[in-house]
Amino acid sequence: MIRPLAQNKKNNIFNTIFRNLFLTIALVAIFAHLAFGWANQTKDNSAPASYENQAKIIKDLGLKEEKAYELLKVLTSVGGRLTGSQAAEQAVNLMGGLMEKIGLDRVWTEPVKVNHWTRGSPEKAFVRSRRFGQQKINICALGNSIGTPGKGLEAQVLEVKSWAELESLKSQVPGKIVFYNVPMDRTIVYSFAAYGQAAQYRVRGASQAARYGAVAVLTRSLTFRLDNHPHTGMMIYDDKLPRIPAASISTLDSERLAQWLKADPDLKIYLRMACQQLEPVISHNVIGELKGAEKPEEIILLGGHLDSWDLSPGANDDAAGCVVALEALRLLKEAGLKPKRTIRAVLFMDEEFGGTGGRAYVLDSHRLNEKHLVAIEQDEGGGLPLGLSLSREEAINKLRAINQILRPFGVYWIEKGGGGVDVSPLASKGVILGSLVPDSQKYFDYHHSALDTIETIHPRELELQAIILAMVVYFFAEEGV
Ligand SMILES: [Zn+2]
Repeated sequence: MIRPLAQNKKNNIFNTIFRNLFLTIALVAIFAHLAFGWANQTKDNSAPASYENQAKIIKDLGLKEEKAYELLKVLTSVGGRLTGSQAAEQAVNLMGGLMEKIGLDRVWTEPVKVNHWTRGSPEKAFVRSRRFGQQKINICALGNSIGTPGKGLEAQVLEVKSWAELESLKSQVPGKIVFYNVPMDRTIVYSFAAYGQAAQYRVRGASQAARYGAVAVLTRSLTFRLDNHPHTGMMIYDDKLPRIPAASISTLDSERLAQWLKADPDLKIYLRMACQQLEPVISHNVIGELKGAEKPEEIILLGGHLDSWDLSPGANDDAAGCVVALEALRLLKEAGLKPKRTIRAVLFMDEEFGGTGGRAYVLDSHRLNEKHLVAIEQDEGGGLPLGLSLSREEAINKLRAINQILRPFGVYWIEKGGGGVDVSPLASKGVILGSLVPDSQKYFDYHHSALDTIETIHPRELELQAIILAMVVYFFAEEGV
């Protein structure tokens, strides 16, 4: 560490220099060597000293004010933002307004044609058993599902725990409700992997059961927790097969139903769902940027998805991703940094119903004269950051130059991995994808259920995401890749 010399000490040094020419030459040589060495180091290590100062400014601004959480409150105030809904449109206007208020250089929207599915009046479901009487069960329709007839439907239930079991019991399926009781694998540490594995029954279960004559399906909710909250999510019909209603049942009721079925295999379930598919509507991606000072056509993208499910305000999925993108740009602007390349926040509409916003973004005519270098999408909740994933080695190696700067903020590893759903269409254009990866253990406690509220997010953990992302996108905007 270099400390200023005291005045009297300085005078002593000058006296010495004048007295001894040899020492002067030696000192010059030492300084020259140090200067030359530093220049070499900056060439190899991308001037970490200046990034360190900037990181401190960004960190101080972020942690003092915790503005990400304020933005989160604003965005979640409109409630669930199902594609095609009024709340989703409100969110488009709200976030565009916030981008202007922050003072981004350019703010605009681009059209996206989105699904318009509505849940209708709350679902009703009962178990009816000669042994247990009538028992209410907690269900919710899956996104895309058709409703039941107006009076509801009632049928016996067939529980299965795998596709193989469905296949082996197919002769028993006609006229029944198939109940996929497949829990997320608790032994998998990275919860998104456990989710990905179990989600196939939610996504494809209705058509697979309809193939053998089922009248409806119930899928065990995708969470490690045992509680009474059903978790929704998208399902997809196979166009060649009949469409039957599909709902999610809470994990506690899944356990109870399995027990009841053992004692009374003839029990029936009554279901009433009023959901319906309406005509698609035009919604929007919301975009704002800090224009690059030297290479404005080269873009570093930071995004999240604006839409959510309707059962909660979708604080973790994915209001958090949207607000940290916005806060990262705000921090850079507040810090007075002028990036060489453009840093752009994109709030995608429609991740949940199939990622139409991400595809529309790539195809939009605005992209013709643009070159995206890196696209980072946050869609793993507002939790504490742990590491960073990037899709190509050259980007990982480059970012390692500021490894020591990022580490104290919670980036313990930088490894190969992808980004979110909405940025994935950019991969075919050679864009490097990435994501800041937060702790995933609690995420599915809330995901797609009524529990995904802002109380589940800690303001400092959220702010750390924004601080790290500000540093990362600024680094790539300065250095390129
Ligand atoms: Zn999401």
